[in-house]
Amino acid sequence: MQTDVVILGAGAAGMTVALAVQARGLQAVLIDPMAQSPNNFAISGGLFPAAGSQLQHASGIDEQPEGWLADVRAFAPDCVNENIASSVAHALPEVVDFFIHRCDAPIHFLPDVVAPGHRTLRFHSIQPASGARFHAWFREQINQKPNLQFFQCISRVQRLAHGFSIHLQPTAGATEVQFETRNLVLAGGGFGANADMVATWIPAMAGALNNGSSTQDGSTLQMGLQWGAQVWGMDGFQGQGHTHPGGATRLGMSIPSLGGVMVDRQGLRFVPEDLGPSSLAPHVIGQPDGLALEIFDAFIEAQLKNHSAYQQALHADRVMSADTVQSLAQVAGVNERGLEETFRQVSLYATGQAKDPLGRQAFPRVLEPPFKASWVTGALSHTQGGLLTDARGAVLGQDGQAIAGLFAAGGSAAGLAGRGADGYLPGNGLAQAFGLGWRVAQALD
Ligand SMILES: Cc1cc2nc3c(=O)[nH]c(=O)nc-3n(C[C@H](O)[C@H](O)[C@H](O)COP(=O)(O)OP(=O)(O)OC[C@H]3O[C@@H](n4cnc5c(N)ncnc54)[C@H](O)[C@@H]3O)c2cc1C
Repeated sequence: MQTDVVILGAGAAGMTVALAVQARGLQAVLIDPMAQSPNNFAISGGLFPAAGSQLQHASGIDEQPEGWLADVRAFAPDCVNENIASSVAHALPEVVDFFIHRCDAPIHFLPDVVAPGHRTLRFHSIQPASGARFHAWFREQINQKPNLQFFQCISRVQRLAHGFSIHLQPTAGATEVQFETRNLVLAGGGFGANADMVATWIPAMAGALNNGSSTQDGSTLQMGLQWGAQVWGMDGFQGQGHTHPGGATRLGMSIPSLGGVMVDRQGLRFVPEDLGPSSLAPHVIGQPDGLALEIFDAFIEAQLKNHSAYQQALHADRVMSADTVQSLAQVAGVNERGLEETFRQVSLYATGQAKDPLGRQAFPRVLEPPFKASWVTGALSHTQGGLLTDARGAVLGQDGQAIAGLFAAGGSAAGLAGRGADGYLPGNGLAQAFGLGWRVAQALD
């Protein structure tokens, strides 16, 4: 059977491509053998930036895509993927528009989501914000579209002289299905769950806790490599410095921006906490037992009602409470004197009476009882390196030319920015998956 496009991977990127190409009237086949396992989209916070969206403007924030682009560049000096950065930035308001007006998506602007490295409010999500809900909404849409077929089985892909041939492994008793297409989209995510690939490309994180999905096996990225694609930024990853040991829950990225601090077993701070959740990860891993105590208060907790990651951690009983600094030290098992001294210093920084020797710029508040705290570690959330594409998501070969008919978006494609854990500005993951996915869908013929 002939089809206009085959998309490998039904995550954030693949489903964006699928919805956008079917809206253009093209015939699309979407394939995901692990569709029943939660992918990175489903376990994400579901928060994405879209500077210049109509929703952002309606909330009184007059920003253009260049505002976000400037923050991406400032956060990752000299390591921005300029092949796609501007294209993604300008795609995002269009994507929001498409989701809302063509797909009737319940997307909202989030006036309460502050994030390190973002100079203004620009995050959007489904309401209430949650990757699981957002993902479920997408899957519902996918299942309703007449010119879009969704197969949840293994495929065997062959590159032909003029296109691709895809064989679907039939379930017992079913006849084999085969598709031929001139356009193949690699959207199978990154390689965070492939220990060999992590050890090869990101040796600093070999063996580290992976709090991303087990579906990140690097398989679609390897297809591109096999066909002679270039890769970019392969040591880049999103770290998560607010992850609970075991990786099932996390606190989310906003507590430092709201005034929280982190201490070691001695009760002492060790890092400018607002450097971003990704860069924070190696610093936390570097503490004794790889643990840090993240401390905040009830006032901050009240601002996290719309943060699904925090709410899950709360329900999993991961947050301690205490009415005094002394009882907090006892309940958490940290040095009481050290913690008292930390509170004393932090209130000096917060009231402008002293400067933080660690270099943190903003201490938005003096923490007040009741205090809240949780032990966290650092993890690898998702990889940022991948197949180098042009601004349309066409995969580039070693000669710098687009490989005919081959496209990539999301974790399989090179990300927006970063080396190591640094340079990953919160939201870069979904921004690239949605924005580059959208560009791919517009580029297909
Ligand atoms: C804990 C956590 C929190 C995050 N929070 C945020 C956030 O709030 N904001 C943000 O911007 N980003 C966030 N991210 C990153 C974001 O989730 C990813 O950037 C995004 O999901 C990438 O989209 P994707 O489509 O490439 O991958 P996924 O969404 O993981 O989808 C990939 C799909 O491909 C399938 N697949 C794999 N191999 C194959 C194959 N060979 N053939 C067919 N299908 C295949 C998988 O089963 C999977 O369904 C977070 C990530 C993690 C781990």
